[in-house]
Amino acid sequence: MIDLHSHTTASDGTYSPAQLVDEAGRTGIRILGITDHDTFSGYDQALALARRAGLELVCGIELSTKLHGHSVHLLGYFLGTDGLGDFRNWIGDLQASRRDRNVRLVARLRELGLDITMEEAEARGGGMTGRPHFAQLLLEKGYVSNMQQAFDDYLDESAKGYVTRREPQFAEAVQHIRDAGGIGSLAHPIRLREDLAAILPELRAAGLNAIEAYHSDHSPSQTALYLELAAQHGLLVTGGSDFHGAVKPEIRLGTGRDGNLRVPEDLVDRLRAGYNA
Ligand code: AMP
Ligand code: ZN
Ligand code: FE
Ligand code: FE
Repeated sequence: MIDLHSHTTASDGTYSPAQLVDEAGRTGIRILGITDHDTFSGYDQALALARRAGLELVCGIELSTKLHGHSVHLLGYFLGTDGLGDFRNWIGDLQASRRDRNVRLVARLRELGLDITMEEAEARGGGMTGRPHFAQLLLEKGYVSNMQQAFDDYLDESAKGYVTRREPQFAEAVQHIRDAGGIGSLAHPIRLREDLAAILPELRAAGLNAIEAYHSDHSPSQTALYLELAAQHGLLVTGGSDFHGAVKPEIRLGTGRDGNLRVPEDLVDRLRAGYNA
């Protein structure tokens, strides 16, 4: 089995890198991609453990970018791991912009009458505190009755607590991934607010290498459509569960929701073969 989309406690997952490597072993995963938001720290920590466990680890990342004013997630995969120095510096800037956003988010939520502090949010977020950790905090404090309500009422782009953050434009982020020798893949295209077929030429022109055709949120017919679009536009294909552990308990590593995910075994070979920098 193979899974190229997963999160650890280094971002908003609930499994530590070590626990994720263990879970991969238990599930029979042969190749695992760790794609934490804005950080390689989970991958870095998992690397030696994976090697010992005989698990092939793929270095990945998930970036939040802006496209036509909306947030679009972009995966980066680095199949040869040298030369990431500049890219690591660049994501340092993204991490700084996230911290700055979090300071303003706390202020905004306090303005709205919610009694929360940065310390409390960071205690839930570890290295990479994000909106899901704020949602968890609001839930624990009884301000909302579930995580989705926290987003709907306070944290979503259209909600009253939302504060903007400097996010790179989609094309800029793709370019940074490519400059570092990586493969840029459009994450979970089902969540796009625009019609994928209509914007694919633009994404392709920006340098996009692949689309994530296989994902826990995709139905079989959606996956088929994404495979067809990838073929039409000369794009590679990636796939994974988007495993987050206990915060999304219905999604299982490798197999998705109720076994709805099946990522082809030779996907990484195809990425290696098809990639032209
Ligand atoms: P951040 O990177 O801190 O801005 O948080 C972004 C993350 O919050 C995304 O990766 C999603 O997991 C989650 N998220 C954003 N918007 C929503 C929403 N409307 N409903 C549920 N989760 C969301
Ligand atoms: Zn996530
Ligand atoms: Fe995502
Ligand atoms: Fe993800």
